Amino acid sequence: MIQTVTSPELALADYEPVVGEWPIEEIRRLARALGQVSVQHVNSTAVGGGVAEILVRLVPLMKDAGLNAGWNIIKGGDDFYRVTKAFHNALHGANQPLTSADLAVFERYQTMNRDLVQVWGDYVVVHDPQPLGLIEVRDARSAPGGDGKPAARRLSRSKEAARIVSGTRWIWRCHIDISAPDPHLWAFLAPWIERYDASIFSMPEFARPLAIPQFMITPAIDPLSEKNVELEPAEVQAVLLRHGIDPSRPVLTQISRFDRLKDPLGVIKVYRLVKKRRPDCQLVLAGGGATDDPEGAQVLSEVMEAANDDPDLHVLLLPPFSDREINALQRGSTVILQKSLKEGFGLTVTEALWKGKPVVGGAVGGIRLQILDGVTGFLARSIEGAAERVRRLLGNPALAEELGRRGREHVRSHFLITRNLRNYLLLMLALRGPGKDVIHI
Ligand code: UDP
Repeated sequence: MIQTVTSPELALADYEPVVGEWPIEEIRRLARALGQVSVQHVNSTAVGGGVAEILVRLVPLMKDAGLNAGWNIIKGGDDFYRVTKAFHNALHGANQPLTSADLAVFERYQTMNRDLVQVWGDYVVVHDPQPLGLIEVRDARSAPGGDGKPAARRLSRSKEAARIVSGTRWIWRCHIDISAPDPHLWAFLAPWIERYDASIFSMPEFARPLAIPQFMITPAIDPLSEKNVELEPAEVQAVLLRHGIDPSRPVLTQISRFDRLKDPLGVIKVYRLVKKRRPDCQLVLAGGGATDDPEGAQVLSEVMEAANDDPDLHVLLLPPFSDREINALQRGSTVILQKSLKEGFGLTVTEALWKGKPVVGGAVGGIRLQILDGVTGFLARSIEGAAERVRRLLGNPALAEELGRRGREHVRSHFLITRNLRNYLLLMLALRGPGKDVIHI
């Protein structure tokens, strides 16, 4: 059976002290205007990575706002995740050859999941490419996919099921930077995407020529989650000590899945450059895997080799649900790095900024929305550039503190989950009146 993720109970009222009364009242009014609707999120993993991180908090908050919200995970095997990880890289513009056998694997799992996933939402929000083909349950008549075969032949759902879900509004939420995708893969996926009622991207730069409306909504973090709540200094210190990290010396940290696009090897080079002038500094590279990311083990072994038994370089393989531990590692750091080569948004940056930490991030994707260079952190375009900025921060604690303070306020204004929830409600209201320029609420 398909997995339904159960989430904790959350109350919108608890967010008032963080964001103020009015944003919460606005959410309630928008939810009332929507009425008794159900919202079904579908993605490919319950654990690891930014999408799961958002949904585990967004779904319960949607419920507290009065919506019937839920979250289902599609099924995949190793072959599927190998292909979808290759898709992920190719959509990010990497030179990643894809064979027709790969595309066939993807299609096979789309067909399988169409039979497994029951569509129950008035609004179905499909996250990223992995479950994209679920859209075929809405209408068995038109053909997607680019292979020329009528879709109906591939569908095993009954006409009755297709009729029941025909009033559903379908939203494709893309979390990745698809500004320069592999053209063949894009041509394969676009016919599915264009059958949705709307798409969501994290930045205007990610928009594509598409025949459906494109909404820009940035992801967000939950300030009250275990990942982000305030911690006592003693707890932070205990976590550092448990991992052999010296809290009295500078700590540089990158938290990320072990993924080449997060550039962990580049981070090690940055650290080595910094260490030439600041021999006291330490590096923490902490991350786990995501169940839909099969490349992690290989990248981790490359990282271990590059670490080369340096006692000040701590590679931490974290089990799932290490939220409090990650929170403590971020809070215990002197500078946070997120040296990604490509990035949809980079929730790790948001998390660090919210904790008032100075962040040096790669000047890519959504990191550029969060780090206003020199104002809420530093952007870097090279290893040398990143090392120079880390050194500057280590040498100027007052600057580090000021950037961190502004970073936290930037997150409060733009990247908290209450704003994300409000955007979803507005989008759902907008989809009630397709083609209308003005929707009366
Ligand atoms: N994360 C985690 N454990 C890990 C590595 C990352 O919980 O071992 C979390 C991290 O704190 C962040 C999310 O997973 O909340 C990663 O989101 P991001 O947008 O930075 O990157 P993605 O993995 O989605 O590419």
